[in-house]
Amino acid sequence: MIAGSKLRMTKQRQLILEELRKVTSHPTADDMYQVLRKKMPKISLGTVYRNLEILSDTGIIQKIDVGGTQKRFDADISTHYHIRCTICGRVADVHMEPHMELEAEAQKLTDYEILHHRVEYIGICPECRKKQS
Ligand SMILES: [Zn+2]
Ligand SMILES: [Zn+2]
Repeated sequence: MIAGSKLRMTKQRQLILEELRKVTSHPTADDMYQVLRKKMPKISLGTVYRNLEILSDTGIIQKIDVGGTQKRFDADISTHYHIRCTICGRVADVHMEPHMELEAEAQKLTDYEILHHRVEYIGICPECRKKQS
């Protein structure tokens, strides 16, 4: 892992980061590409994808692997929980305090040094629920 401060901020990388910080929708590389191409018509999907990977490798953003779907990205790197709609696939933040005691408990049981934990709730979002009824 490269230290975040040492990462060279190219103009494209800066723009990608700025746009990601504006949203809480946990976009995929494709979603980001659709937004970015309007501001930077020459940008390619490959460039967007590569830069998102670099930004997450350096810990500036967070990559979320959710249930076998496309990787999503989050500018919020704090420990927080996500909820995924099983119908439309949207991923939202769950605004609750993270349960840090889960880490102590897992450490005790496994003797691992716990670095981080993730919680993903699966459900049906309000919009999809409306459509169902
Ligand atoms: Zn939904
Ligand atoms: Zn999030």
